[in-house]
Amino acid sequence: MSAKTPVSKVGKYAWYNGEIVETSTIHLSPSTNVAHYGTGVFEGIRFYETSKGPAVFRLMDHMKRLVRGSRFYSLDLKWTAEQLASATVATIAKEGTVSGYIRPLVYFGDGPIHLRAKAGCPTDAFIVTRAITAYLGEENVDRGVRVTVTKWRKTHFTSVPTSAKGCGQYSNSVLAVHEAMERGFDEALLLNHNGTVAEGSGENVFWVKNGKIITNDATSSILPGITRDTVLTLAKDLGIASEVRAFTLPELMDADEMFLTGTAAEVTSVRELDGRMFPTGEGTLGRIFARRYQEVVHGRAPGYDHWLTYVR
Ligand code: PMP
Repeated sequence: MSAKTPVSKVGKYAWYNGEIVETSTIHLSPSTNVAHYGTGVFEGIRFYETSKGPAVFRLMDHMKRLVRGSRFYSLDLKWTAEQLASATVATIAKEGTVSGYIRPLVYFGDGPIHLRAKAGCPTDAFIVTRAITAYLGEENVDRGVRVTVTKWRKTHFTSVPTSAKGCGQYSNSVLAVHEAMERGFDEALLLNHNGTVAEGSGENVFWVKNGKIITNDATSSILPGITRDTVLTLAKDLGIASEVRAFTLPELMDADEMFLTGTAAEVTSVRELDGRMFPTGEGTLGRIFARRYQEVVHGRAPGYDHWLTYVR
């Protein structure tokens, strides 16, 4: 993401507390608890154009993560993951778009301005869609992005539940990516307090050594990404070796390649990490996974249909 990221408009229709409404009718009060204290959880999901109409990628996996995250924050979510998935499909169908980004948000709404959110604020929820292009810049899709290590360390899993997409938790990511932007980079890399690598502001990190891909897990305070899981599955199916373990910045600096994964960023190669250049061209594993991922999400790779929820 950069200053170049195109501004996209939210869809005309949204799902709000159980009903499809016109998005313009949703008004949030200045006393909405989440606006003050980040007391909500959200998801980022994509849907893609396929030969069988629009298809949402790994919809149930995203909704299950949303439901788990809601529990951490004592949000009183009245809908199941299945119901939220159906609501998503209905919203896309009403909107009539063939591809885009989906943002469900479950949050403490209008109530007293105190921290005991669950003791006075309703749990509200909406699902909105919007257009999306390449999150880390259209111009970087093939050449890869420039990443810098930020001074802001990743919030440890003992401080916040890093496996949840908690709204307030993202102040850590915002500080990090703002610093990266100010220094002319596309994305920030956050380290943990013990010096191991955590993740990007909105992506998981993979690196390559001698033909093997390596990534970390929840013990490194990452959000265990659904794209990360997709890449690990694809690696297994393609016969590419993978390893899941904590790793350090010197190991990353010594990598043969580096790439980032996330719903918005998809699979994006890194061409530079603070002056260290990595290959990003044809034949690199970053390029191979980026291509394979696009085939899978667009329904062009047999064997992965169970990851697609068709809208029509
Ligand atoms: N880490 C962070 C901090 C993120 O915000 C994201 C994007 N959701 C990811 C990793 C990647 O997760 P996913 O592949 O599920 O989108």
